[in-house]
Amino acid sequence: MVVSNVGIPVVDSHAHFVTFATVKMWMETSQATMEQMEKRVSKLTDMEHFTIPDEAWDTGQMWIDEMEKYGISAVGMMINRESWDEFNDARRRFPGRFLGYAMINPADDDAVDQVERAGSDGFQGIKLYPSSWDFHAYDKRVYPIYEEALRNNLLVIAHFGITIGSQANLVYGNPLDIQKPAHDFPELNFMIAHFGAGFLREVLMLMYQTNNVHMDTSGSNSWMKYLPYDLTITKVFEKTLKAGGPCRVVFGTDSSFFPRGFRYNILEEQYGAVKALCPQLCYSEEDVDNIFRGNILRLTGFKPVDMTGVEAESTLSCVDY
Ligand SMILES: [Zn+2]
Repeated sequence: MVVSNVGIPVVDSHAHFVTFATVKMWMETSQATMEQMEKRVSKLTDMEHFTIPDEAWDTGQMWIDEMEKYGISAVGMMINRESWDEFNDARRRFPGRFLGYAMINPADDDAVDQVERAGSDGFQGIKLYPSSWDFHAYDKRVYPIYEEALRNNLLVIAHFGITIGSQANLVYGNPLDIQKPAHDFPELNFMIAHFGAGFLREVLMLMYQTNNVHMDTSGSNSWMKYLPYDLTITKVFEKTLKAGGPCRVVFGTDSSFFPRGFRYNILEEQYGAVKALCPQLCYSEEDVDNIFRGNILRLTGFKPVDMTGVEAESTLSCVDY
């Protein structure tokens, strides 16, 4: 099995497959100038610069190079319509290295068809952005999407809380919105991105109230800055692991752009945070393996193929306590 540079096998559950076509579409639809984009990116992320090359790049190959550099077994990628074909091509060229999650906007007439296509194309999940696309996750119009996701065994990832898009409407950003769908679809698995991006309290309560809601750890978690009290990433892990247990905390980096590439600093920081909980709250090697690799494989059924081309064995069980 591939071992990452921090010393354990790692699958990154949350990243973005940003292709040339995607960036072109963003620039056209957001009508933002490069200067505005750069300002917002530097305020809200750990990227200092945001540049766009003039020519298309080979997104799949760039990711594979990064994964080999840091020893990452597989990466889960958010895919929008514009990057779908390029992503499928990358998956064909590099089987067993990319999980795919289709970004679905319930306002699209063909939203359910896209979920079905994600299933038939062998994707592992779908991604919803309630606050960016103005809907409550419990709206009845979203239910056919959940039904189709369930039919295709797709994980439902949702971004609640604050987000980099300036148009986001936080009225739709409360993770509690997922409680009703999670209850109505007990066989469907849900994953809330970035520990709820500011709504940590709500996500912790969902751990009590539901069995099928998980959380991903991805990103710099800069939402901590916008809370009325001090938090550290170690404290966030302590709280979420206590509330959800090691089966429901799923590692991710939210890597997206190059030249930044794979956010190894986030892996280092989060692995360090889990380790720092010891000796008060020591997690076993198996628990740590589940957080950094096993949980996302169990939730999606994805089987990574390591760099030698041998199918990696995966622990697909997680014991809650
Ligand atoms: Zn993301």
